[in-house]
Amino acid sequence: MTKGKIDVTTENIFPIIKKFLYSDHEIFLREIVSNAIDATQKLKTLANMGEFKGELGDLTIRIRLDKKKKTISVTDSGVGMTSDEIEKYINQIAFSSAEDFLAKYKNKESSMIGHFGLGFYSSFMVSEKVEIITRSYMKDAQSVQWTCKGSPDYEIEEGKRTERGTEVILHIDKDSGEFLDESRIREILRKYCRFLPVPIAFGKKTEWKDGKSVELDEDDIINETQPLWTKKPVDLKDEDYQAFYKDLYPMSEAPLFNIHLNVDYPFNLTGILYFPKIKSNFDIQKNKIQLYCNQVFVTDSVEGIVPEFLTLLHGVLDSPDIPLNVSRSYLQSDSNVKKISGHITKKVADRLNEIFKNDREQFEKKWDDLKIFIEYGMISEEKFYDQISKFSLLKNTEGKYFTFEEYEKLIKENQTDRNKTLVYLYTTNMEEQFGYIEAAKNKGYDVLVMDGYLDLHFINHLETKFNKSHFVRVDSDVIDNLIQKEESRESKLTVDQQNDLKPVFSSQLPETGASYNVTFESLSETDQPVLITQMEFMRRMKDMSQIGGGPMSFYGDMPNQYNVVVNANHPLVLRIHDEKEKKCTRSLVKYDEKIKPLQENKAEIEKANKGKKDDEIQQADKDRIEDLDKKMKEFKDKREQVLRKFGKENKVVRQLIDIALLSNNMLKGEDLGRFVKRSIELL
Ligand code: ADP
Ligand code: MG
Repeated sequence: MTKGKIDVTTENIFPIIKKFLYSDHEIFLREIVSNAIDATQKLKTLANMGEFKGELGDLTIRIRLDKKKKTISVTDSGVGMTSDEIEKYINQIAFSSAEDFLAKYKNKESSMIGHFGLGFYSSFMVSEKVEIITRSYMKDAQSVQWTCKGSPDYEIEEGKRTERGTEVILHIDKDSGEFLDESRIREILRKYCRFLPVPIAFGKKTEWKDGKSVELDEDDIINETQPLWTKKPVDLKDEDYQAFYKDLYPMSEAPLFNIHLNVDYPFNLTGILYFPKIKSNFDIQKNKIQLYCNQVFVTDSVEGIVPEFLTLLHGVLDSPDIPLNVSRSYLQSDSNVKKISGHITKKVADRLNEIFKNDREQFEKKWDDLKIFIEYGMISEEKFYDQISKFSLLKNTEGKYFTFEEYEKLIKENQTDRNKTLVYLYTTNMEEQFGYIEAAKNKGYDVLVMDGYLDLHFINHLETKFNKSHFVRVDSDVIDNLIQKEESRESKLTVDQQNDLKPVFSSQLPETGASYNVTFESLSETDQPVLITQMEFMRRMKDMSQIGGGPMSFYGDMPNQYNVVVNANHPLVLRIHDEKEKKCTRSLVKYDEKIKPLQENKAEIEKANKGKKDDEIQQADKDRIEDLDKKMKEFKDKREQVLRKFGKENKVVRQLIDIALLSNNMLKGEDLGRFVKRSIELL
């Protein structure tokens, strides 16, 4: 027996390993098992090269849990090690790499992906003693046993192994009891070792017999050595991809479609990405893509490796070329990683293009589900926008789909306004905005459906991309104003008459948190008598603030502002005007007669002072004007009171406003009840 001291500079490296990354202690098993895999693969390579001439035999890697002895052992039939190799690979190299690794990452645990590099020594995170019993594949090799009790001291002696290969025995320490639980080990194996390329057995298969579980002779193999992504796409059918998806995400609905990645230059990358079917916005989940390195699971947070929008996809990526033991910020600037990310983006775009070209019907059918990924991609990745804008779709209220180009052609003639701006009309809710959609259609306009989670951002983005174009929601103004063409129609009411009707209508507006502004428009007689609209800009800002906060968030706190648009040409409005004339003229004239001389008086004074600067006007004149204004205001207020009183008592005014509120889905509760009652009375 020889005794030795592992060559270290820091005596306390073992306690550090133990404490290192508490939550990630489970990776010890991945490290030990992947060493067993490496050793097995090396042997296969040697056999292929003719350097190993013996029988390969059963290469299954066996993991055994012994609760009584408190050990976990991992046995392989790989290359094994000679005592010189143990000295070199375990005592010197592995140890110094573990040391380097710790020196680098001691304070940055959270910034790491995977923890490759810690390797064999990660076993000391959970063990008080580790034994290696090994025998090299080389002819006449002697079995060697290495034992280390978690201090820099180790022992090497003759081993008892008769077959080729290595057994690593971990004596689990008392703080790591959780790893002596069979289901815990099974869980870890499933997570990290599920797709490793050599069969791995964890115990024996069991069967229920006479009410109890009996162990069978057959190994319980926990892994799939040839996962789907390692196979050639030509050999696979759609069912295979569907089945693999089901296997990875048993709870998810069937995916929309998949993309099989297979690159070997300028980097190695294989994998299968799936577009998941998302039932609701709550379903959107990141971190569903699993990242592997030569079939060893590394992580399921791929941020930094694939573009942000693709983190919404599902599936697996496998690349030995992604540096795994580095920080995320390094990863993002790594040129290999950038290439990989760019490549994946392009592949996704190519696949979409292929489906669009070959089967547009299918593409349209899936569009509503696909849209969220595509819009996210187009907004966040300039390149993706360019790759996909030729076959990205817009849907109209009739459920027809158009490419951007097709749609522009469709609306160009009819929806270009007098400033040569192309106006895209859209609705966010076909039911609630039904009346406005109808009005637009009656004009021969087309209306897009933009009711998706990201549509608001997407619209903003498209406006920056499209030539001289503007998006407006159908209900943000009366139709003639949405797409202004020639000069507007004559009004049947004079400005003064309109001004008189303003308080009449104002008197009946709801007194909720929102603010309303009454305006008059000369619409056609057949248009609605009263309409309620919300300015596109303001509404968009408010909607944005609801989705995403940021600089928009202050808009969210502002009250809703609506325009109450009264159609100055509608017969019912004219009738209200006539009634007002009949009922109010006498009182109004009374005030008008009082206001008139005051007005004239004011005009005289102003005329006399015309052209003078403010400090040249005599104080007496200023006081006089102020006094006149005050008096006039008094009469004007009283005059307005008359109009408001008339309005308040007028059932038709209230009815018209309620109808407008109702068609915006803004008439609720008690008001709605009163409306119904009043409607019956009016009939
Ligand atoms: P890495 O696997 O990155 O080389 P490790 O610390 O995991 O680092 O292992 C160090 C070395 O120890 C390996 O490179 C290998 O030479 C040797 N080794 C570890 N486990 C085995 C094994 N089961 N069979 C043969 N050699 C092994
Ligand atoms: Mg290793």
